[in-house]
Amino acid sequence: VVDIAFDDTILRIDDHIPDPGCEIIDLEGRILLPGVIDAHVHFNDPGFNEREDFSTGTASAAAGGITTVVDMPCTSLPPVIDESALANKLEAIRGKAVTDYALWGGIRGNDAPWADGRVERLWNVGVVGFKIYTVSGMDTFRALSYPQIADILKRFAGCLFAFHAEDPGVIAEAEQALPRPWRWREYVDSRPVEAEIVAVQCILDAGRENRLHIVHVGSGEVVRLLETARKQGVDVTFETAPHYLAFSTEDFAVLAGRLKTAPPVKSATDRAILRKALVDGLLDYIATDHAGCEWAPGKVAADFHDVYNGIPGCETLVPLVFDEFSGEVSFSRLADLLSVNPAKRLGLYPRKGALQVGSDADFTVLDTDRPYRFDEATLHCKGRLSPFQGREFRTGIQRTVVRGETVYIRDHGLVGRFGWGQWVRRNGL
Ligand SMILES: [Zn+2]
Repeated sequence: VVDIAFDDTILRIDDHIPDPGCEIIDLEGRILLPGVIDAHVHFNDPGFNEREDFSTGTASAAAGGITTVVDMPCTSLPPVIDESALANKLEAIRGKAVTDYALWGGIRGNDAPWADGRVERLWNVGVVGFKIYTVSGMDTFRALSYPQIADILKRFAGCLFAFHAEDPGVIAEAEQALPRPWRWREYVDSRPVEAEIVAVQCILDAGRENRLHIVHVGSGEVVRLLETARKQGVDVTFETAPHYLAFSTEDFAVLAGRLKTAPPVKSATDRAILRKALVDGLLDYIATDHAGCEWAPGKVAADFHDVYNGIPGCETLVPLVFDEFSGEVSFSRLADLLSVNPAKRLGLYPRKGALQVGSDADFTVLDTDRPYRFDEATLHCKGRLSPFQGREFRTGIQRTVVRGETVYIRDHGLVGRFGWGQWVRRNGL
């Protein structure tokens, strides 16, 4: 048993702290984690607020035990591609966040050749890194070609780069062979495993001297590629999302649009390799790729090609990961996957991701003694559609604490204040 004294930061950790003269929270029988970090969310603010905004997104995060989210640059208008777009975003989300937040910057094809200093300046104000797409369906955030990626990696060698890695050539070729309208099977076939393999290989070849990160890895072959590259000394990390750990392509038959993301979930064999990477220690972290939308028009299109890609994952991340893996790995490994590792990789550690004196008093408290049936209608985000609808969970979020303030309690719901959440810059800024 251990006591933790805190105000907005952790003040003291000891076997027994006598008579503190303040509020005491008794966690007897609970699980305490350093505040969970969701390092990949799309909260769409400003620009696509009909799908999500920073109030609903961070409310959902708080209810999911997440104390810091890291928002992606591509799904807001303007996208976060320079200092003024970042300032615009910070202004648009002011007063909204319940949890803390860090921000990814973006490098998009639209702005080639990036010679005006925007990348350096955006890095220097404190984004955690830059997101790049090798294939993109967004006109406001176009993909980069491999030569452009090689050029960027060379010029901005000190930065962290995160890639959505699927090869546009492989996808275009597959799509041509699949006449529209599509059902789910055609969608799956349009984004084969080869697309991920080719793109990741090209990125690894170009970035052997860089700091690389691959988002939402779904295929087993890619896990092996990354393992090999790492053994050769390449500084590359990767994340996967809960849906890749929980589902495979066959589940589309039942879940249809609820399961649609890009890239799509892969085969049961791919899923097994990902799960093994989690257990073996190879997987760096788990992030949700939270991206919600309303049922109509987002998820009802007659042509499956046009169904919105995205799952709102913040409130099922921790229950899913604990239910599925706490019997197989230690709590400390789960804390690494959900908090410590993303904090370290994104330059937020030890302010975030650490239970130590001086760190922010961010805590995620779980209980496992009150099983429940998850109902998507209870989600706090705007798009209340989840592939986990109806699932029985054992793990529940008992309490979420952000910089010393309780923002969510299981029996009271959301108790945090909109605007409490702060922007967290990368270390040293
Ligand atoms: Zn994403």
